[in-house]
Amino acid sequence: MHTSLRGWLDHLQCTGRLAMAKPGMQLRHGVAGLANRLAGDNAALFPRPDGHPVPVVANLLGDRTWIAEAMGVEPGDVLAAYGRACTNPRPLCEVSAAPCQEVVHRDVDLERQLPIPTHNEFDSGAYITAGLLITRGPSGQNVSIHRLQVSGPDRLGALLLPRHTLALFAERERAGEDLDVAVVIGVDPLTLLASQAIVPLGQDELEIAGALHGADLPVTRCVTNDLLVPAEAEFVLEGRLLASTREPEGPFGEFPQYYGPRDDRHVIAVDAVTHRKEPIYHTIVGGGLEHLLLGAVPREASFLTQLRRSFPCVRDVHLSMGGTCRYHLHVQVANHAPGEAKNVMLGALALHYDVKHVTVVDTDVDVHDPADVEWAVATRFQADRDLLVVSAAQGSKLDPSTDDGIGARMGLDATVPADAAPSTFTRIRVPGEAELDLVTLTGAAPADWQDAIR
Ligand code: MN
Repeated sequence: MHTSLRGWLDHLQCTGRLAMAKPGMQLRHGVAGLANRLAGDNAALFPRPDGHPVPVVANLLGDRTWIAEAMGVEPGDVLAAYGRACTNPRPLCEVSAAPCQEVVHRDVDLERQLPIPTHNEFDSGAYITAGLLITRGPSGQNVSIHRLQVSGPDRLGALLLPRHTLALFAERERAGEDLDVAVVIGVDPLTLLASQAIVPLGQDELEIAGALHGADLPVTRCVTNDLLVPAEAEFVLEGRLLASTREPEGPFGEFPQYYGPRDDRHVIAVDAVTHRKEPIYHTIVGGGLEHLLLGAVPREASFLTQLRRSFPCVRDVHLSMGGTCRYHLHVQVANHAPGEAKNVMLGALALHYDVKHVTVVDTDVDVHDPADVEWAVATRFQADRDLLVVSAAQGSKLDPSTDDGIGARMGLDATVPADAAPSTFTRIRVPGEAELDLVTLTGAAPADWQDAIR
C-alpha cells in the first residue's frame, strides 16, 4: 500500500513508469499535452515548468491495474476492497507538526506560489484540478474535487455541482455566512481515490483514505480555520467559499470531452497557502485518462455495494471509457427473477444523476469489455420489449445534450429472456481452446514453409 505521493513516485520510478520531461515545459498547454501523450503508460514529472521553482507531476494513475497496485490487491478485487473501505472507515489521527505546513504564506499569490497549468484549448486560463476541497457541516467533514479557476492572486472560481459541498454551502449561505474550505493538493493515490467515494453526506471521505491505507490517516488542523487536512499533503490552500458572491467561471474542458460553459459561479477567497519544503504540485488534465479513471473506480465500487443491497443478483459493474467513465453503466446479473433486470435498471439510474444509460447483461458477458456488452445488446436486446426510457429526469449538467442537466435516462435489458429455450442463447465456443499452450504448440513458420508441410 502506498500512503504518500512521494512513496508512490518512488514506486513508479522503480518500475520504469516515471517519465521526466525536459525542464521548462510551458504551463500553458505544454504540460497537459505531454501528460496526455504519456497517459496510460507513464506518470510525468515536469521540472521548472515555465521556470517556476515548483515541479509539476501528472498521470499518477495510468490504468486500472495501477489502482490495484496502489491498493495492494489483485485487479479483480479492487471494487470489493474499495467497497469494504467505504463501509469500514478509520478515524482520523490528528498530529500537531505536519509536513504540509512546513512553509506558511499569509501573503497569498497563487501563481507565484504554485505552478498552475492551463490544460485545454479554450479553458479560460489556469485551473487547479487536483485539489481536494474539504468543508465541514453539522455532521462532519466532506471531501470532493472541484475545478478551481485562478481568478486573481488570492481568488478562485469554483464549479459546485449539486452534491455535498453545494448542500453544505447553501445551508451556510442562507444564514449569510461564508463556508471555511481547505484545498489539498499533492496527496497519495489512495487519498485521491477516497475523495471520489459516493457515500452519504456526513461521512468524511478522509476516513475512507485511512481504511484504504490500513492505518488511521494523519491529519493536521489548518492555520486559519478548524478543518483537518492530510498531514502528508504537498500543498494546502485555506480559505472561504463566499456567501452571496458569484463571478464568471469557465469555460473549462471536462470529462465528457467538451467545455463546461462560462457562467457566474461560486468564489473562494484564499487566506493562506501552506506547503512542504520543496513541494511538488499535482495536476489532473481536464478530460484526460486520470480524470476519467478517478471517476470510474470509486463510483463502480460504491454502485456495486449499493446495488447489491437491493439486488443480490448483481455480480459486477463497469463504467465504460466511451461513456466518459460516468454516463454508461454496465451491470452483470446472475440467476435473476423474471422482470428483475428492469428493477436493477431502475435502481442503477437512481444511484447518481451521472448514470445516464444502464445496460444489464448475464454472467457470460464481460462487463469490462465494451465489445462484449455491445454483442449482448446486438443479440439479446429487443427495443420494444427491453428498453426503458425516463424523460426529463435530472442528469449531468456537463452533458451538452441535456437541457441544463435535464434529460432522458435509459435502461437496456440485454439479458437472455427468462422463457428462452436453453440452446437459443448458448454462446459458441471451442472446447479446450482456452487451455492450449501456444509456446509448446506453435512456432514461427520456417522460410521453406511449403516444404515443411509436405
Ligand atoms: Mn461526501
